[in-house]
Amino acid sequence: MPERITVAGVSVDTRHWIGGRRVASDGTFADYSPIDGSVLGEIARGGPAEAEAAVAAARDAFPAWAATSRGARARILHAIADGVEKRLEELAIVETTDNGALLRSHRRGVMPRVAHNFRFFADWLLTLEHEDFDTRGHTNRVSWDPAGPCVLITPWNAPLMLATWKVAPALAAGNTVVLKPAEWSPLTASLLADIAAEAGLPAGVLNVVQGYGSEIGDALTSHPDVRRVSFTGSVPTARRIAASAAANLTPLSLELGGKSPLLVFADADLDLAVDLAVEQYDNAGQVCLAGTRLLVEEQVAEEFTRRFVEKATALRQGDPRDESTDIGPTIHPRQLEKIDGFVQRAVAAGARAVIGGHREDGGQFYAPTLLTDVAQDSEIVQEEVFGPVLTLQTFTGEDEAVRLANDTRFGLAATVATGDRERAERVSARLVAGTVWVNCFFVRDLRAPFGGSRQSGVGREGGTWSFDFYCDLKNTVTAPKGWNDHG
Ligand code: NAD
Repeated sequence: MPERITVAGVSVDTRHWIGGRRVASDGTFADYSPIDGSVLGEIARGGPAEAEAAVAAARDAFPAWAATSRGARARILHAIADGVEKRLEELAIVETTDNGALLRSHRRGVMPRVAHNFRFFADWLLTLEHEDFDTRGHTNRVSWDPAGPCVLITPWNAPLMLATWKVAPALAAGNTVVLKPAEWSPLTASLLADIAAEAGLPAGVLNVVQGYGSEIGDALTSHPDVRRVSFTGSVPTARRIAASAAANLTPLSLELGGKSPLLVFADADLDLAVDLAVEQYDNAGQVCLAGTRLLVEEQVAEEFTRRFVEKATALRQGDPRDESTDIGPTIHPRQLEKIDGFVQRAVAAGARAVIGGHREDGGQFYAPTLLTDVAQDSEIVQEEVFGPVLTLQTFTGEDEAVRLANDTRFGLAATVATGDRERAERVSARLVAGTVWVNCFFVRDLRAPFGGSRQSGVGREGGTWSFDFYCDLKNTVTAPKGWNDHG
């Protein structure tokens, strides 16, 4: 297997990164580009042996990194951010080639955010403190102690963004990391390993292992030396990981799927509501937070649908490297098949495709789809499709809107479009969701808690919540001076 491949002019190492060295495996897996289905390269395919080696490297590197001062850790994280910014164009084009999401959003939104992930958690680390408090003269001091090696497992829809949202706080906290990127888009994690090494991160503090979750996952998540497992991905995988981590009661953070509602009240600015709804097709609908269930108040439903169709049919599908493209390909032929399966079953059950409802000729494209006449308890309303497929249902009044919005097993996010601020407050308070957006979408601040309710996740990350997860919180109680003087 070639040790390096060239992807869109960028050289990428295909081997694992373990203990500060590149390590090959006996086996490989092919990594395809969703843009044209071409094979980008053969990637080292890790299994239990590579998992063991990576955890051992993380365990060995842990004491020194944990003992490194907060200031020194923060400086290295900023140096990693510098490296990301320096190689921003390369990261953007490699990510687009590997996962098919838009180059313009990788350039302008995602990769700057990747750098910001490192800067933010470096700076937040320096502000972490809790005032001492007193118990009958005894001082209580709260500290965030590094926990140990962390296993971080990430999906393909926003590879480097989601990986660094975990890597940055885990490293800032003084932990060492084994990162396992998704097998459909592993390349930018390899580039991150290079960038971190160039930034002076000591060997073994960040390790990257590649491979199929079914082959390497269990060895990582059930390992007794692993102190935290943070996972972003689907609910079925989360169940397997939770069962595996249960062997050692390893604390878990799970960021999972969703079937989020977008509520449009009759008093909403309808143009804004339509823009918000059309935005749900971003990244070909392969976004966990997407508000895929449009719930529209009866009296404006017809007008809303008319304006929505006008906007949605003007979206341009095509090559994600082209500046004028709005929607790129889906990640993989299997994903395309899965999306179409959901849609065809929905149509067979009585749904009507107002727009779309089919694959496009050529390439891995699925037509932006809007389905109406869907039953609340149907598969298409209850299950995550993870493609450019929205449903539209109508409601009358707040009670019905909230009832429909909350009636799935998920609770990741919700979006509310209304012109009435008091209604916004009332409705938001009743929604089951980790994040509620009112008259906006996808505004995310790293200081805010992020996560899902119900089966959309376990725990919250962001700001101090990230450090609460990645650290062992300790309270040290010290007796007053002279407490044992008996004279
Ligand atoms: P997935 O669950 O199939 O895979 C995610 C990762 O888990 C991959 O790296 C995979 O190799 C690994 N994996 C698979 N089996 C494993 C096992 N037994 N042990 C350990 N690791 C294993 O998910 P996906 O298809 O890559 O991603 C799409 C899903 O991710 C959607 O459900 C989406 O909603 C969710 N997601 C959630 C968020 C969030 O923040 N809540 C963000 C993005 C995506």
